[in-house]
Amino acid sequence: MEQQTQKDVVLITGASGGIGQATAQRFALAGYPVVLHYHNNEQKAMCTAQQLEAQGCRVLLERADLRDSRQVEAMVQRIAEYWGPVEILVNNAGIAQQKLFTDITDEEWRDMFAVHVDGAFYCARAVLPSMIHRRAGCIVNISSMWGQTGGSCEVHYSAAKGALQAMTKALAKEVGPSGVRVNCVAPGVILTEMNTAMFDGETLDDLRKETPLEQLGMPQDVANMIYFLCTAEAAYITGQVIGVNGGMVI
Ligand code: NAP
Repeated sequence: MEQQTQKDVVLITGASGGIGQATAQRFALAGYPVVLHYHNNEQKAMCTAQQLEAQGCRVLLERADLRDSRQVEAMVQRIAEYWGPVEILVNNAGIAQQKLFTDITDEEWRDMFAVHVDGAFYCARAVLPSMIHRRAGCIVNISSMWGQTGGSCEVHYSAAKGALQAMTKALAKEVGPSGVRVNCVAPGVILTEMNTAMFDGETLDDLRKETPLEQLGMPQDVANMIYFLCTAEAAYITGQVIGVNGGMVI
């Protein structure tokens, strides 16, 4: 583990899921104080937190339904009181669903936007004042290759992920002069519960064969890019949508 100097406070939403967990591990093992946010899966978040603590990492668990701005604001306030302001925000929490467009209900459409777009908006809005005040900060929004290309039977998911890409670009322009960088990572097919719950082994193997690198992605592949975007090596990168997809979108 690297030396624990005054590293930035990191908030990772959806750290009870596959990509969020790997991202929390990536930052925590590099010496950052990491807030692992979860919604329902307290057990998985707690298990990750305990493993990291056993390795000498500084972690904090926070529960919030990101569809509710009051819960998000209260979470960010609690973090500020405990550790100080969030300096790196990873908007990673998400949900997935496969459905014919004409079968999507009003509630399903709204929920897709509530978790992905409202959640990212509430989190970014809550952390930005202190980032702007300190003229430093990084936000990484997790989109999807379907937000770039559109996915059949995932129109609501694709639309919400496309909105995150537009939000990234607009916000990067607005807060760039204040020293805050905003980027977006668009993963391809990554082996997490989100996919294993939705696709059988045969479908996953077909997706693997369609991928130029002939492998599905691992959560760590995405975590490494998120981490890089928040380091000094990425100091001149903002407003970008970066694919981590094994060549699926070129
Ligand atoms: P995952 O394992 O299913 O985890 C999803 C996370 O989102 C969980 O931590 C979950 O919390 C949280 N979440 C869901 N609804 C929430 C809500 N209302 N409020 C707060 N948190 C909520 O997903 P993943 O595969 O790691 O995906 C992470 C991100 O990458 C998502 O945005 C996803 O769309 C995106 N992505 C994934 C893939 C892929 O192939 N896996 C590809 C492209 C993009 P609880 O479990 O605690 O409720």
